[in-house]
Amino acid sequence: MNSRAENFYAVWRERCRAVNALRDGGSVPPEKLLQAVWQHQRLQRDRLKTADGRSLRVLHPGFVSVEGGPDFRGAVLQFENDKPVSGDVEIDLQSSGWRAHGHDKNPNFKNVILHVIWEALGKIETVPFVLALKYQLDAPVAELALALENEAGLPEALRGQCSSPLRELNEVQLAEILRAAAKVRFENKAKAMLARAKHSGWEAALWENLFRALGYKHNVWPMQNLAETKPRWMRNAASAFEIQARLLGVSGLLPEDLTRAQKSSDTFLRRAWDCWWRDRDEFSDCTLLRTVWKFHGLRPANHPQRRLALAAHWLTSDDLVSQIEDWIADDISDQKLLSSLHKIFHVERDDFWSWHWTFKSARLVKPQPLLGAARMTDLAVNVVLPWLWIRGACARSPGGSEKLQGEVERRFLAWPAAEDNSVLKLARQRLLGTARARVLKGAAAQQGLMQIVRDFCEHSNAVCADCRFPELVRGWRASAAI
Ligand code: SF4
Repeated sequence: MNSRAENFYAVWRERCRAVNALRDGGSVPPEKLLQAVWQHQRLQRDRLKTADGRSLRVLHPGFVSVEGGPDFRGAVLQFENDKPVSGDVEIDLQSSGWRAHGHDKNPNFKNVILHVIWEALGKIETVPFVLALKYQLDAPVAELALALENEAGLPEALRGQCSSPLRELNEVQLAEILRAAAKVRFENKAKAMLARAKHSGWEAALWENLFRALGYKHNVWPMQNLAETKPRWMRNAASAFEIQARLLGVSGLLPEDLTRAQKSSDTFLRRAWDCWWRDRDEFSDCTLLRTVWKFHGLRPANHPQRRLALAAHWLTSDDLVSQIEDWIADDISDQKLLSSLHKIFHVERDDFWSWHWTFKSARLVKPQPLLGAARMTDLAVNVVLPWLWIRGACARSPGGSEKLQGEVERRFLAWPAAEDNSVLKLARQRLLGTARARVLKGAAAQQGLMQIVRDFCEHSNAVCADCRFPELVRGWRASAAI
């Protein structure tokens, strides 16, 4: 094979990229490159010094944060000979960025233990500690720009300690471990539903979990609260619009002011206020404050106001529960699982929300569904299937319940993969050593991997301290080979 010097394409690339890497900030490399340098630890690691002269050992650089806040989460660092500490790392070009970007006042940055910058100029903040990279790189910056340009994902050395035993498994063995972990997760969810059902009945447990699922991870609790007060705000509400107006009112999400810019939104708001005006005193003791909702990082399509509209349509249908029961009794092929359940939860059209992401957004050119296939998969694996399964387990006739539970399990294991997310992305790279989403063949495999993260990674740290999972995998593989 030709060396790089002989390969004219490599020479072109080298010239262009090296120049580009430095063009953004004159002699200062772009922040993205500093992040890559930190992630791949292209540093003189055995002689790192902070700006105030302390020696620094990076036991783990942490994981790229994908949800805002500091650039790297969960790094493990040792300053001087002190005990290693775990915390976050923020990367900026200059130390002044710490205050200029408001990190000093932002609670999301309170766990930052190291501020990585390009060059220490002027007054340096000492808390958190500062590491200037300019004179501590392991190669010239232009060379690093080239080397790191296409480095996606986690460097080999930063994979978890279980990555090697997991990669020694064959496909069937790996699937077996993931399936076993997925079943644990599934049964835990089902048992939590049983606990709720004992208190408030099966239907209430289903609605609570549907609402929770509509809250995604940021708004689970306000959604749960709304579901708990459902018997009150549903009383005498007839149409989907009336339920929507009540839900918006009780949730604290009905805007007080008209937009004055979107005519259709203002028409909707006037109608909603006409309903809520009459009701609000009656529900004042169960009305939530708007401040309990989180909007940061939400896609407009997932705004809780839109999710409440979807719930209002489900609540208008008298027979959602019986449709779910019929669905599990029907003979449905693996290929039609998703579409057949989607038909039950799909809302044909909402006069306002099919055409708007939020009250402030302009009318859409094409109507957009209130529930996409990806969200349907989340509802299926997190709510509908566990609910059917645990109801089956509690059914009176033992033969019938086993058959029902067996069918629910079959559907769970056959369910197509859900949308990828940041937890899965990191877990695939860290545990399975691959960025490829397709390595997880269905929703159950994804759920299994998330359960392993919860059971092991969340009880350890970035360097896998005291994690028993690698040894368990090795032992399991050895016993399977006997
Ligand atoms: S903490 Fe355990 S399960 Fe997580 S990556 Fe490390 S070895 Fe694997």
